[in-house]
Amino acid sequence: MNKKLFVISGCSGVGKGTVLKEFMARNSDDFMLSVSCTTRKPRTGEIDGVNYFFLTREEFEKAVEEDKFLEHAQFAGNLYGTKKKFIKQKFEEGLNIILEIETQGALQVKQKMPEAVLIFIAPPSYEELEHRLRGRNTEDEETIQKRLDFVKVELERSKQYDYVVINDDLERAISEVEEITRKELAL
Ligand code: ADP
Ligand code: 5GP
Repeated sequence: MNKKLFVISGCSGVGKGTVLKEFMARNSDDFMLSVSCTTRKPRTGEIDGVNYFFLTREEFEKAVEEDKFLEHAQFAGNLYGTKKKFIKQKFEEGLNIILEIETQGALQVKQKMPEAVLIFIAPPSYEELEHRLRGRNTEDEETIQKRLDFVKVELERSKQYDYVVINDDLERAISEVEEITRKELAL
């Protein structure tokens, strides 16, 4: 069966990580979650090479110059990108790949690989999104504001996605992502 690239985006704090963690726990035989590069500092508990490849800005910019990225973007003051080589290797291993990336990068992927499937995880409301982002307690106030400022733009870009999944009830949202992947892989 043909292997596919799935791209998952959603506003910061919407629950992408939570949905994907459970999705991967149930589907790790067939899917692999891409590990991105970033210039953001690791959060407590994050491991280099597992959660991200943590690069300096110089290292990241050098990789951009050398055209090493399938897509890359700036988000809330940090650079994020997906290495072409990483994706190529994982396809060669026969896995479907999931990229958890923001909207600018996702639309770059769609341009280069129109067969990629774009899924946007949307919040039930702005208030609930803010509540979840603050409740996570991982960012300072300035960073939270930067992330919230971006919500409108990301919701606008979600119109170009193949699917929008509302993360109200977590279990329902996970099932919907599973249904989408099953349907797309059967095409
Ligand atoms: P993201 O990866 O999109 O930035 P996280 O997965 O870190 O978001 O989730 C942000 C917070 O929201 C976490 O504290 C998580 O437990 C919570 N959360 C995720 N999904 C739901 C949901 N469906 N209902 C309520 N809280 C949720
Ligand atoms: P965080 O700092 O919370 O881990 O991620 C911030 C944002 O960057 C999230 O929207 C996440 O999806 C996005 N992101 C993570 N990796 C990449 C990547 O490789 N490319 C792009 N374009 N965005 C990414």
